[in-house]
Amino acid sequence: MPTSFPDVFSLRGETALITGGGTGIGLAMARSMVSAGARVVLVGRREAELAAAVKELGAGASLVVHDVTKLEAAPALIARITRETGPITILVNNAGIHLKKPAVETTTEEFQKVLNTHIVGAHALTAAVAPGMMERKHGSILFTGSMASLFGIPLVIAYTAAKAAMVGMVKGYATEFSPHGVRVNCLAPGWIETEMSRKAMEGDPARKAKILGRTSMAKFGTPADIGWAAVYLSSPAARFVTGAVLPVDGGVSVGF
Ligand code: NDP
Repeated sequence: MPTSFPDVFSLRGETALITGGGTGIGLAMARSMVSAGARVVLVGRREAELAAAVKELGAGASLVVHDVTKLEAAPALIARITRETGPITILVNNAGIHLKKPAVETTTEEFQKVLNTHIVGAHALTAAVAPGMMERKHGSILFTGSMASLFGIPLVIAYTAAKAAMVGMVKGYATEFSPHGVRVNCLAPGWIETEMSRKAMEGDPARKAKILGRTSMAKFGTPADIGWAAVYLSSPAARFVTGAVLPVDGGVSVGF
């Protein structure tokens, strides 16, 4: 176990599975992790996005097309990656979808789809990966939470339910896995410039102004800001950090 800088932040020898790794925040996490020495396996539904990301990242990256809501396929995915790339030592449950509409207009089907992507799909992968990690007494599991993990946000009821539930999941997994050398943590990004946030703010200048108005740093974050935080939480530097929710938000969660 490295104890001095810079090795204490190194991910050399680690293999990270990143869901939603072909775009936005997931791709930025992959970039940061590759530059910290890890191999990354990018998972998503669109092959073209994943292939472009792998091309950019180079030899340390590979892809598997997979839909996290196909719950029964999770064990086979993990078995395949383990066979082809080696044991997964970092799992990043980052895949997500957004749904913006008034709470009373959100159908139960829509609600369920959002929960299936963020929560049930993440659980299926976590349950498939964690036994191997615990056996090897080495692993880091990250979730991409949100400001919706911390407070209410209008017009995104299913998303808020999912991101708030994630915090409970992270704490619960941490109590079960941490005694066996597997840490579980949650990143809570503020508003970050990606396709998802662009769509969420599209045609809604009042929402954009509200977000910036309560962000202490008065600007949006970049995907790389989350990528480096993911490296930290998965590295030996964070070896005593588990069950934590780390806001990376330019001060949104402390602003007024
Ligand atoms: P993107 O839309 O770029 O990323 C979402 C990713 O999830 C895509 O790569 C998408 O790939 C993948 N994905 C969606 N559904 C599935 C599925 N069923 N199976 C596999 N992969 C799936 O947006 P972001 O990068 O912004 O979002 C990444 C995460 O960050 C999400 O969890 C989001 O909630 C969270 N977040 C974003 C914030 C922001 O301001 N941008 C703030 C806080 C949190 P594909 O469509 O090919 O499957």
